[in-house]
Amino acid sequence: MSAAPAAGVTVRVPAKVNVQLAVGAARPDGFHDLANVFLAVSLHDEVTATPADGLTIGCTGPDADQVPLDRTNLAARAAELLAARAGLAPDVHLHIAKSIPVAGGMAGGSADGAAALLACDTLWGLDTPVEDLLDICAELGSDVPFSLVGGAALGTGRGELLTPVEAGSFHWVFAVADGGLSTPAVFREFDRLAAGRPVPAPEASPALLAALASGDADALAATLANDLQPAALSLRPQLAQTLAAGTEAGALAGLVSGSGPTTAFLVRDPEAALKVAAALEASGTCRTTRVATSPSPGAVVLP
Ligand code: ATP
Repeated sequence: MSAAPAAGVTVRVPAKVNVQLAVGAARPDGFHDLANVFLAVSLHDEVTATPADGLTIGCTGPDADQVPLDRTNLAARAAELLAARAGLAPDVHLHIAKSIPVAGGMAGGSADGAAALLACDTLWGLDTPVEDLLDICAELGSDVPFSLVGGAALGTGRGELLTPVEAGSFHWVFAVADGGLSTPAVFREFDRLAAGRPVPAPEASPALLAALASGDADALAATLANDLQPAALSLRPQLAQTLAAGTEAGALAGLVSGSGPTTAFLVRDPEAALKVAAALEASGTCRTTRVATSPSPGAVVLP
């Protein structure tokens, strides 16, 4: 093992939006098979790992009061799993500089899990092979492997089996809602709405993958799809007003991000992004907005 750096290690990690989220029927284990086209966007958390006595967590940012600071935090669980695998004590303080909306359908907790894993691996000088890091990520949660690799990928299984896909660059506006939505509650609502109807096996859309690869925003706008959107709208009907406000302001398309309640708007260029963001804020249908681009790299150690 190489010597640990004296100072802390900071890792920057992106949020994600699902440009396609196809959901199959509930499996016997309660999970759903997915065809999940992930795109990493330029909204980031930063996780800093510093040597400490025992495992502690701190968090700053506008939503910090909603982030658990105990061992249920995915960053803490990542440190524990990595330390156990290496036969070390998880003696680390993890500071999360939180910018990704909490419980917003943008994989913020998953991002922090992936970032903590890479930060601890670097701090402890473990140099764990990326395949092993991805295994730990999959144990932490379905969205965590993608947070580590970033870019654009198709996730199958529960979403954790990743195949990289090509993606041109796109511009986005995110409307952050007041309060979060629980991902399990949204899946339960999906099951309730699907009861008695056949649910087709989830498949990635060839038209969407072609649009993503080409960088053609109009083609991507025509193919964006989220099977969880009706469930999120059923639990949070006000989101329909946010979606309408964004498209009326000139977004090419809008959709609920993952399990919501953040809504994502695809726009043509940076000027359109500013216009749509301003109109969404003026509409009073969301708490705040964020402008971003895609794709973004995955978790990366900052110099
Ligand atoms: P996904 O898009 O993966 O479904 P999400 O973005 O909707 O997730 P998160 O921000 O990951 O939701 O938060 C979901 C819950 O996870 C929170 O309500 C919180 O209790 C818990 N949690 C655990 N670790 C973290 C973390 N590091 N940051 C935020 N929430 C966390």
